Amino acid sequence: MHVVSPATRAQHSGSLRVVGILILGAGQAAAQLAISLRQGGYGGSIAMVGDEPYAPYQRPPLSKAFLKERPSADTLLLRREGFWADQKVQLEVGAAAASVDRAGKRVSLADGRTIDYETLVFATGTRARDLPVPGIALPGVFSLRKIDDVRRLRPALDAAKRIAIIGGGYIGLEVAAVMRQEARDATVIEAEDRVMKRVAGEAVSAFFDAFHRGRGVDIRLGARLAAIEGSAQATGIALTSGEKIAADLVLVATGARANDDVAAAAGLKCDNGIQVDDFARAAPDVYAIGDCARFFSHRYGRTIRLECVQNAIDQAKAVAAAILGQPKPYDPVPWFWSDQYEIKLQITGLLDGYDAVETIGNPADNRFSVEYRKGGKLIAVDAINDGRAHMLGRRRIAVDLPEFVAA
Ligand SMILES: Cc1cc2nc3c(=O)[nH]c(=O)nc-3n(C[C@H](O)[C@H](O)[C@H](O)COP(=O)(O)OP(=O)(O)OC[C@H]3O[C@@H](n4cnc5c(N)ncnc54)[C@H](O)[C@@H]3O)c2cc1C
Repeated sequence: MHVVSPATRAQHSGSLRVVGILILGAGQAAAQLAISLRQGGYGGSIAMVGDEPYAPYQRPPLSKAFLKERPSADTLLLRREGFWADQKVQLEVGAAAASVDRAGKRVSLADGRTIDYETLVFATGTRARDLPVPGIALPGVFSLRKIDDVRRLRPALDAAKRIAIIGGGYIGLEVAAVMRQEARDATVIEAEDRVMKRVAGEAVSAFFDAFHRGRGVDIRLGARLAAIEGSAQATGIALTSGEKIAADLVLVATGARANDDVAAAAGLKCDNGIQVDDFARAAPDVYAIGDCARFFSHRYGRTIRLECVQNAIDQAKAVAAAILGQPKPYDPVPWFWSDQYEIKLQITGLLDGYDAVETIGNPADNRFSVEYRKGGKLIAVDAINDGRAHMLGRRRIAVDLPEFVAA
């Protein structure tokens, strides 16, 4: 049978252009994939399409040093200007992928252009989760996921004295830390009974709760937002308890959901994340990597979607290897960090139904670690200002929960 390659078809159909590997999204995972492909000797064409007006950049500083120290946005770039052109990676910024015709192997951009591909990779990340409460669209209500969010947020923070932060996860707490360092009032509203419940264990939540309160953050646990108050501008928040808290600015930090709409519309299986197999494959010639991908963790026995730099980088490397003909199952021990004041939290593993907890060191010293076990196996370690405990924890979890190896 004679198979017509997309490249040949493009010449006949007059489509705009065709690329070997088309990456949707131009963030951490996309950048790593392009780099790893070139390092691995891939000589075909690579294109990255990103809807933000920036070359690939790192997001973690947005809620930490970048927010606090206000350096130029260039300092966030993952590679220097010119790198992508040198690597012959076509970078389309400010261009959103609108739809994918999988049968025709063609992506349509929101501006009407089309790109044909041989292999397609979704690296579309996440967006702030919708929070359907009255007043959410008022001026003075912000979220924080990208450079442009900081560009809007930072001047508003400068003009604000009292900040209400909805969500006591790591982003909310990192911003609260910056606010206190600037002597602004910060109130954190958390619906759960402890901060960072989704990512850290009880002792670590208690440590951060006490640390923030000690620095003057007003933390409200078990508090539910009823509305954001104000008519022309947010002036505060109302809780379901009836309490009202005045604020000059409201930051919504209630988590993210996967950008999987384009994939779902293209008929790929999605469930707050594009479902992929052990090799990050969503369908023949289609992969998904980074925050937007949901995959089965053999180590933990369930599907997971990770939002961390480790996963973006390592899953991208795994897909590069697969594309280069050396597929290896991707089954990571996840890890993650958060910086709050002078405290570095490093989390490794997942807190899945642990039955034993051990604290090593003294929280009063601001340096300790917590180990979580299930059936005698180490499944997670939270390390506070203790990089060694974190590194050892990663290695020990990898031994206790062995990596999946394809038959
Ligand atoms: C404020 C903040 C702080 C963080 N701090 C940490 C931290 O301390 N440690 C840590 O490990 N992780 C942290 N993270 C998470 C980390 O940044 C992400 O896990 C990582 O960026 C994921 O990489 P990605 O490439 O999957 O997605 P992203 O880097 O988010 O890139 C995805 C890109 O795709 C674009 N896109 C979406 N849809 C389309 C479309 N249809 N067409 C074209 N482009 C599209 C998006 O706009 C985005 O630019 C933080 C995230 C945020 C927001």
